[in-house]
Amino acid sequence: MADFFDRLKAGLAGAAEAFGPGRYQVEGRRVTCPHCGSEEFAEGSAQLNTAGMTFIGLDWANRSAYTLMCARCSRIEWFGQAPDRL
Ligand SMILES: [Zn+2]
Repeated sequence: MADFFDRLKAGLAGAAEAFGPGRYQVEGRRVTCPHCGSEEFAEGSAQLNTAGMTFIGLDWANRSAYTLMCARCSRIEWFGQAPDRL
């Protein structure tokens, strides 16, 4: 499992390198880190089609999720729709 998160972080770091951290909103509300309050995030995505997701009844979301990793504390927020970059 640690390996999964290492690869996820590596993927997010790659996205940050390409676009740089930025500010985002979803449904008209600014995305703010609930842990440290930062508004700077690096965008990424992750596949949801795992056996675990099937088990907990999320087959409807069996595609990819959008992730925003806080540029300050590295907390990851998950969204089912693409966040709007400001
Ligand atoms: Zn944070």
